[in-house]
Amino acid sequence: MRPEESHRIHHHVRLPDGRDIEVVYLEQGLRGADGAPQPSGLALHVCFHCNSELVHPLDWTDEGGGHWRLLLRCPECEATREGVFAKEEIELMEEELDRGIGSLLSDLRRMTHTNMCEEIEFFVRALEADVIVPSDFGR
Ligand SMILES: [Zn+2]
Repeated sequence: MRPEESHRIHHHVRLPDGRDIEVVYLEQGLRGADGAPQPSGLALHVCFHCNSELVHPLDWTDEGGGHWRLLLRCPECEATREGVFAKEEIELMEEELDRGIGSLLSDLRRMTHTNMCEEIEFFVRALEADVIVPSDFGR
């Protein structure tokens, strides 16, 4: 392997239409403004194809040295991405996924709450308009 090859990170990705492509990241392009290494460029939980933040691992293998080979899947566009990632990156993804699921749940709670409020309002308006009379309750 030529020296510059070792600074490249190869990821196999599968597009929703079934095409397989190989994405090659150059390590020098993967450093943040502060010079900190950013091993794969794109956060693991972000879909390279549709930018969904719900990408999750389907399969993983221990590659040794704190690295794992992950098969990632996007639930929104079905794209998959395979590559070897550092443990730190994977932990970051887990945190992001936890946060993503947490915000989904709170969205759901908020929506449920809004629906209930609307139903109660509707009920109150119906009562005020005498649309609902006691006989509606079987009396
Ligand atoms: Zn996607």
